[in-house]
Amino acid sequence: MSEENKNTPDTIDENAKDINPDEKKDEREEVCYMCRRPESQAGKMIHLPGNLSICSDCMQKTFDSIKNLPFGGDNTGGNLDLSNLPQVSFMNLKDLMGSFGVPESQKLKKKKEKVEGEEVPPEIDIRNMIPPHEIKAKLDDYVVGQDHAKKVMSVAVYNHYKRVFSEEQRKKAEEEQKGKKNENTVIDDGVEIEKSNMLMIGPTGSGKTYLVRTLAKLLNVPLAITDATSLTEAGYIGDDIESVVSKLLAAAGNDVELAEHGIIFIDEIDKLAKKRNANQRDVSGEAVQQGMLKLLEGSVIEVPVGASSKNAMVPMTLVDTRNILFICGGAFPDLSDIIKERLNKSSAMGFVSDLKDKYDKDENILEKVTVEDLRKFGMIPEFIGRLPIIFALQSLTVDMLVKILAEPKNAIVKQYQKLLEYDEVKLEFEEGALKAISEEAKKRELGARALRSIIEDLMLDIMYEIPKDDNIGTVIITEDYVRKKGGPKILMRETQRVAKSKEA
Ligand code: ADP
Repeated sequence: MSEENKNTPDTIDENAKDINPDEKKDEREEVCYMCRRPESQAGKMIHLPGNLSICSDCMQKTFDSIKNLPFGGDNTGGNLDLSNLPQVSFMNLKDLMGSFGVPESQKLKKKKEKVEGEEVPPEIDIRNMIPPHEIKAKLDDYVVGQDHAKKVMSVAVYNHYKRVFSEEQRKKAEEEQKGKKNENTVIDDGVEIEKSNMLMIGPTGSGKTYLVRTLAKLLNVPLAITDATSLTEAGYIGDDIESVVSKLLAAAGNDVELAEHGIIFIDEIDKLAKKRNANQRDVSGEAVQQGMLKLLEGSVIEVPVGASSKNAMVPMTLVDTRNILFICGGAFPDLSDIIKERLNKSSAMGFVSDLKDKYDKDENILEKVTVEDLRKFGMIPEFIGRLPIIFALQSLTVDMLVKILAEPKNAIVKQYQKLLEYDEVKLEFEEGALKAISEEAKKRELGARALRSIIEDLMLDIMYEIPKDDNIGTVIITEDYVRKKGGPKILMRETQRVAKSKEA
């Protein structure tokens, strides 16, 4: 070894120590300052002053772009030709890595050990996977009603993760068999479980997004929510279809393995219906349905890491969508007419003919949807075929809205009670008040979403006045106040105390 190498600075020695297997107990990974990829993906980091770590890809890209910069001059007044500067031009990344004294084999070893010691992602194991009835019971804590939807989703999710598990088992068995070629282990029984992507149909505000969000939280998997209206065919203005996967990757903290077990929810899917009399090229409807086919079925796609769009400075990674669960949702506004038409037609024929308008007032007509109805609506058959689980959510009744107001773990009423608790004021709602709020919400036809705006209106004055008066102890929202026939009941601390002592 040359004299020069013996005199390497301290910082470099520390780095060399870093990869000593005896001292590798740090479980956290460094992340590249530019592309946000962890060391396990991007490789050995280069440490710069100020605690900055940059991966070799980004460093190289930076060098390349500096080299190409047309520098006109510098502070010294002379023309600066970077290529003539020894510090810059001889900076070859490989040399730099070499000066850390990191032999190739040692570097790999450290990476491997780190992955083994990592806590996430947990291996999906069917023995640890909660069964459908437990998933549903947990959903019940948050989501009111929608029993059928909750049941379907719980089973679908359970089956989905079973499928993921069976694939992982198969991969493992394949690898093992490669190791011991002579043993006759059966790796493939020929049964391949199909993917359980879902299509959720339900009126606005009936809890579609809320169900998916709650489910992802319960399963502790990353979730990406996208609006189908923002998607366009690749090359047109708007997000291209693959951007939904980069969103999921971001939600998984750029951990590809975690993202590959996540959930993607695409809302407003009904907006992708074929336009009936379209003369122009339909870049945001049917074309997007076509473009999504591969994604839904499962394919390996290249997505940018740490950014939503592809560009030269962003590193790319491969994500396999085979095990990503896709849930599509939409209100499908005119679908009920299509279903009614079909049902009325079939019930008017034959011996058992029904009344012609039997289905006209059926609020939950969407539950009777068939693939044929969806095709008529404008969804292409290949697209519907890749969403084998189709179910509908009920439109919320007044009773359900009353429950939504007060019962779930983070019910709106509980949220406002907590807000007023900070002012040490108790908030109560009369039974009649909850009903009146729900009736008003039902009239607005916005589902549960109307509840918040109604309560917000009712609470505005109260929340404005309360901090002015320390003496206010309890506020009761009365039915009259909601129906605009009176005001809320306000109890002062003093009177409450007197009443209590009288009781005693
Ligand atoms: P959409 O069906 O339009 O996606 P959301 O899921 O966004 O509706 O619902 C709006 C809000 O209404 C949710 O954030 C949630 O608080 C509430 N909500 C809707 N349905 C329910 C339900 N069944 N149980 C509890 N809360 C609900």
